[in-house]
Amino acid sequence: MAKEPKPEEISRINYQPPSKEWMDIRLEIREGMFCWGAKEQSLQTVDFPNARSWSPVEEDWKLPENWKDIVLKGMAERLERYRSFKIFMDICVRCGACADKCHFFLGTGDPKNMPVLRAELLRSIYRKDFTRAGRILGRLAGARDLTYEVLKEWWYYFYQCSECRRCSVFCPYGIDTAEVTIIARELLNLLGLNIEWIAGPVANCFMKGNHLGLEPHTIKSSLEFLVDEIEEITGVKVEPTFNRKGAEILFVAPSGDLFADPGTYTCMGYLMLFHEIGLDYTWSTYASEGGNFGFFTSNEMAKRLNAKIYAEAKRLGVKWIIGGECGHMWRVLNQYMDTWNGPADFLEEPVSPITNTKFENAKATKMVHISEFTADLIKQGKLNLDPSRNDHLKVTFHDSCNTSRGMGLLDEPRYIIKNTCNYFYEMPDNTIREKTFCCGSGSGLNASENMELRLRGGLPRANAVKYVHEKYGVNMLACICAIDRAALPPLMNYWVPGVGVTGVTELVGNALIMKGEGERTTDLRGEDLPN
Ligand code: SF4
Ligand code: SF4
Repeated sequence: MAKEPKPEEISRINYQPPSKEWMDIRLEIREGMFCWGAKEQSLQTVDFPNARSWSPVEEDWKLPENWKDIVLKGMAERLERYRSFKIFMDICVRCGACADKCHFFLGTGDPKNMPVLRAELLRSIYRKDFTRAGRILGRLAGARDLTYEVLKEWWYYFYQCSECRRCSVFCPYGIDTAEVTIIARELLNLLGLNIEWIAGPVANCFMKGNHLGLEPHTIKSSLEFLVDEIEEITGVKVEPTFNRKGAEILFVAPSGDLFADPGTYTCMGYLMLFHEIGLDYTWSTYASEGGNFGFFTSNEMAKRLNAKIYAEAKRLGVKWIIGGECGHMWRVLNQYMDTWNGPADFLEEPVSPITNTKFENAKATKMVHISEFTADLIKQGKLNLDPSRNDHLKVTFHDSCNTSRGMGLLDEPRYIIKNTCNYFYEMPDNTIREKTFCCGSGSGLNASENMELRLRGGLPRANAVKYVHEKYGVNMLACICAIDRAALPPLMNYWVPGVGVTGVTELVGNALIMKGEGERTTDLRGEDLPN
């Protein structure tokens, strides 16, 4: 594994434009900046083509002989199928408005991490093979040949894009470079060029229903462990059910919340909240993953993984679905689900059984975000909350890229935090809400071998946290995404030591006064409550 550079080394970023034109800059595959290639077995599990053992640091990537034909044919098919892709290939005027909006460019200074140039890596091939000007004028028209090095460059830089869509907010033409990355990754996948940190979880989810590959009994025992923890802290025994046919609601969480701290505390919050309001709901040990790493692979793979949630809802005969604090689950749900697997007409339009609120926004998907559900409970006065139990926390909120830009969920989490905590401080305006900065590890990039990339990509987010940490004494970064809960703790430890990471529903669990509870002396982490 590459040696982790010190913060002062990473902060010395060179933004000086290079002396050579971008097409003349040779690719350098640098350790610490990429993830290991997908394993043969992982790709075989989901019937992906060209599964083989290969390594990004070896010269020979063991490509099939006709690899160029495969890529160009794949590109032609996608230009035909996705109008957005064709438009994004044609309409960029290279105004540069997006250039300094990508956290990976800000953290590396590498021009090929400017969104405009990232897309040009693909666009230059499009021009050469699919436009008359490119065929005739070549480089003069911004076209170039598809070579082995170009392909490697695609792999390196399209796995240095977290598909966060921040650049699209600033593009006057609405070009979404994340969509370009999605197509580029699809093309790479035709040649078996995925990364294992994505391909492994995809294979696990396909076989076992969750990214971690957990068996049903492991899921059940993990939740039972959390049930015991809740009882120890509150004196209340919550009793979740599993795979229960006829339950009103299916609850689907990201599997990370069941296993890794601090996600487990968020999971305790879910269990406590549902128990307290007497919700008729069930967990599933089959649809045991809200997240969707298929989305970082191809539209088709994302569709296959998303389908299992609906198949399970049908099998159990529930009326509708609540989803936990996850990022890409919600982007998939709001932007793509209805086209892929919808409409879910066998389910009912969600109505809260506690407040009678109809979630009209979930008419097509029949799936409600836990923050929407909880904010409504609070607004209707259905929860007894004591925010002073969170008085040891000075909280700021990180908008996950997917929930903010992918579904516009901006106010509900803030409303919940303000009702469960007395101390809340926003980071600067240009780093939150639609303009939020990525954690630096989204879209399947939260591996350990690419830690330098993650620390660099996470620098703009960390910088904004540092600002409120120094100005207001913020010591807790709240979020509604399981990847954030995994990615932000090392980022904070590196750039802003002293700031922890929490899910919003953990804050709810702390503040929630449950019927029949004993006197609490600690929060959900077992830390003493403030006096
Ligand atoms: S802002 Fe839009 S049009 Fe301008 S360079 Fe970026 S992608 Fe192209
Ligand atoms: S989608 Fe995000 S990571 Fe990708 S180029 Fe745009 S800003 Fe950068």
